[in-house]
Parts: sequence; structure tokens; C-alpha cells
Amino acid sequence: MKIERPRGTRDFLPDEMEKRRTIEKIMRRIAESYGYREILTPTFEHLELFTIKSGEGIIEEIYAFKDKGGRDLALRPELTAPVIRMFVNECVGMPKPLRFYYFANCFRYERPQKGRYREFWQFGVELIGSSSPLADAEVVSLAYRIMDELKIKFDLHVGHVGLLRHLLRDLDENVASKIMRLIDKKDVEGLEKYLDEVGVSSDLRDSIFSLVELVGDRDVIGSAKEIIPDFDFGHIEKLCDVLDALDVKYKLDFGIARGLDYYTGVVFEAYAKEGLGAQNQICGGGSYRLAHLFGGEDTPATGFALGFDRIAEICEVELERKKKVVVVSFRGLEGEAFKIANTLRDKAVVVTDVMERNIKKQLSYANDINADLAVIVGERELKEGKVAVKDLRSGEQKAVSLNELLDLI
Ligand code: ATP
Ligand code: MG
Repeated sequence: MKIERPRGTRDFLPDEMEKRRTIEKIMRRIAESYGYREILTPTFEHLELFTIKSGEGIIEEIYAFKDKGGRDLALRPELTAPVIRMFVNECVGMPKPLRFYYFANCFRYERPQKGRYREFWQFGVELIGSSSPLADAEVVSLAYRIMDELKIKFDLHVGHVGLLRHLLRDLDENVASKIMRLIDKKDVEGLEKYLDEVGVSSDLRDSIFSLVELVGDRDVIGSAKEIIPDFDFGHIEKLCDVLDALDVKYKLDFGIARGLDYYTGVVFEAYAKEGLGAQNQICGGGSYRLAHLFGGEDTPATGFALGFDRIAEICEVELERKKKVVVVSFRGLEGEAFKIANTLRDKAVVVTDVMERNIKKQLSYANDINADLAVIVGERELKEGKVAVKDLRSGEQKAVSLNELLDLI
């Protein structure tokens, strides 16, 4: 019986892994250049870590299970909560701010479709310890820089959940949460129905819809001030100043609500302009407070997560290509062939025959795997300290000494 992989998971073949690793390397390099250092947390955590803020409802969307000791555990659906748990457990004495990045797989029980999987990867950062707009500016511009260097065509939207929360401040917390979630899903119909159901005033209703529709350049701050005159827009203004100085291209969007409940301030999302269809959100982030919920001191933080799989799908990167060499040997000279192969491995990818094939078949395999060169180890040449080198592109062949061979590669 053939066993299929579980729904929503994927196998990655070498070509795809090569591309994914190349993209990952670029992300790491850029994050490290801003002083972020890599961390890793466990693949599974106590279920509570994810329900504390988001409620039991989230259990529907995650892989939750009991282990043999009866503990309630969950495969991580994201890394922000785990990183802050780690911060509270391990890092409180460290000088702030802390700059961490991660690259890891996440698990969500979602309906699989293009760009939406049950196991997927996120590359993200958390900047812990500052509530300044400068921290937001750093994190937003770092996400921007990564997507920009990967030559992705994207729109970056920046907002502030404080505005919506301010409007909803007198409502019951669960009602406010539900409204935020409907806004996040851009479910206008559902939102209208729900606002009717809970009976919000028509003034509030108008304010919510006007705010959610506010998308544009810095002018929209003026319009937002008209809707919420008693909100302090200083933080957003400062963030915009720095982003403008950095020439980061973005739109202000006060309709960004983010699905997760822990965001408290600036929030941002990036959408790919082409190649992804409906699942085009490739980055989500913002500032939040979680540490106090996990037994630590109340600590501000800002972070983002890039949807690595969606990015890998649309981004074209130049792969680093090392020369590929096949060392072909006559029967009895395999030891010599293995030895010669070893001397070349600092400079190229080198493979030898392990199928005990004849010369013709070894050469034909070299062509099949797209090798650049074949090094043929034969008795007569070897006696003179030489090997035959065949350029598999041009077909040209010549005898060279072992030293010359190194220079050729
Ligand atoms: P979406 O609205 O697409 O479900 P989300 O708001 O749940 O996204 P976040 O929790 O902010 O997403 O995760 C950050 C990024 O991870 C998303 O922008 C997206 O690119 C990616 N992502 C989220 N869920 C999945 C998934 N099931 N499969 C692949 N990528 C995902
Ligand atoms: Mg989602």
C-alpha cells in the first residue's frame, strides 16, 4: 500500500530546497545585519500559551493533543507567543532591547489551498523592550528591506489597532474582539450583521466603517483625526517621519485589525501584487504586549512574521551554482578515483560512480545529471600522474596533471 503524506503538508525536492535555502540565507543575512540573533523554541508548547490571549476558540485552528502524561500540548501555530515565553523564562536579565529572529515551521489546522498549508514556515523577528515609534520603524523597515531585496512586488500597509480599540473601548471585550476579527477578514456583510445583532449606535457604526475605509498616504491622518479627535496621533506621525526618511513605500491603512488579539499599537501587513491569488498576504506584524500574561513584567515588543512559503512561491532568486564534476573510473581504479574526487571537493560538487557501471554508462549518467566536467581516471594517464578531463558542454577532452586539474575547476 502506498502511503500518502498528510493533507496540507508538502515534500520538498532538491531544486525547491535549494531555492528555499537561498531565500532563507538572504533573510538571515539582512536580519543579522540589523543586530538580530537567531533563537529557536520547541516545536510544541503547553496549549495554554496559545489560548491565554486568544481564547479556547483558537483550539479549532491548531494541532492540540494530550501527551501520554495527560498534558495539554499544541504544535506551535506561530512563534511570537513562544518567543515571549522564552524571553520571560530565560532572558529578563539581558540588556534591552533584545533583537531575536527565527526561521521555523508552524502548524495550523486550516483548509489547505494554494498558499495555505497545515505545515508552513515563518521567518520572523521580535524586538523586545521598546514601545517607541523608532522600534516600530526599525521592524517595519527591516521587513520592507527583506521583501525589497528579494525583488518581490508588494504593497505595504501600516496602521494602528489603537484607533479601532479606542472606538470599541466601551463594548464588551468579546464583542470588540469579534468585531476586530470580522474587520481582519474584510467580511463587511458579516460585520454589518454582527453590529446589528449587538445593537451598536449608528454613530459608532459610522465611525467604524469610515475608519476601516481610510487607506492612503499621510493625509488620511487628518481624516482619522476627524473621526477620533481625542486619539494621540504623535506615535504614528513619528513612525511616518522615519519611514519617509528611509524612503520606505507604504500606505496608511486604519482598517488593519490583525487576526490575533495581542496587538496593541502599530500593525502592518504586506500583500504580494502578483502570483498568489487570494492568499496574497506575505507578511504580518505589529507591536504588542504579551510578557505579563506569561508571568513576566509588562514589556512592549514589536515583530513581524513573513510567510516563507508564499514568498518562496513568487520570488525568483539566482541560485549559487557550483561546478559539478563526475569522476569516472575504470574498474580497479575506484580507490584512486575516490581519492582524486576528495581533492576537488573544496572547489566543486564531485560525485563518483557507486553503481559499478562501465565507462560509457558513467559518462552518460554525468550528462543526465547536468555535470560540467567528467574526470576520467585511467591506467595509462595515471602512470604519468595525469587524468583525462572532458568538458561535457563542448565535448572537448584533454589530459592534464592533477595540479592542473585543480586550476581547471
Ligand atoms: P491569513 O490571513 O492568510 O490566514 P494570518 O493573519 O493568519 O494570515 P499570520 O498569523 O500573521 O497570518 O502569519 C504571518 C504570515 O504567515 C502570513 O502573512 C502568511 O503569509 C503566512 N501564513 C499564515 N498562515 C499560513 C498557512 N496556513 N500556510 C502558509 N502560510 C501561512
Ligand atoms: Mg490565518
